[in-house]
Amino acid sequence: MIKIRIGKKKEEGSCPKATQDIELNTKNRNAAIKAEHIQYGPLNLSDEDYYVRVAKHWNTSVDVAKKSKCSNCTAFDISPRMLECLPGPVSQPIEDEEGMLGYCWMHRFKCHSARTCYTWAAGGPIDKDSVSYSWQERSEESLSEGWSKGERSKRKNKCDNPKGFTMKQFCKNQKSRSKKGEKKN
Ligand code: SF4
Repeated sequence: MIKIRIGKKKEEGSCPKATQDIELNTKNRNAAIKAEHIQYGPLNLSDEDYYVRVAKHWNTSVDVAKKSKCSNCTAFDISPRMLECLPGPVSQPIEDEEGMLGYCWMHRFKCHSARTCYTWAAGGPIDKDSVSYSWQERSEESLSEGWSKGERSKRKNKCDNPKGFTMKQFCKNQKSRSKKGEKKN
């Protein structure tokens, strides 16, 4: 049975961008499918060849490979606050016959609980808001580390009135770096 969950009103800027931006989500998902070191899949859940390939990659059996899914991966976020971010403005239902969508913090897209990838790691799912926010904090930090010098400088000038989670996090990090006497950009 297909169920559609209607998201509640959420604080602006609190959801990961890919949950709200279908183009970005598709771009990140396609990158995860193609990347040699990720290989998100299978597209068709009955594709045995995919699991044979994954099992070979992990040096394990097909049965074990099939048990290592997004649903129990450490990066799979189905916390209450994340479910409010899903499905986003244009997306598919988050629950279906095979499982449900959650957010992948490693590769930044809405992944499906029944699929997997080469970077799967035990310990999930994330089902507490506190753990979800902690992943978001680390994710935003690593994104901002990747900004160019010009971009960082442009954003620093907006720290008097930061908007959105990414900017707030960036400005918070700038303050704590400044206190520690570290280089600010
Ligand atoms: S890192 Fe985990 S949650 Fe993300 S796609 Fe891979 S198995 Fe799924």
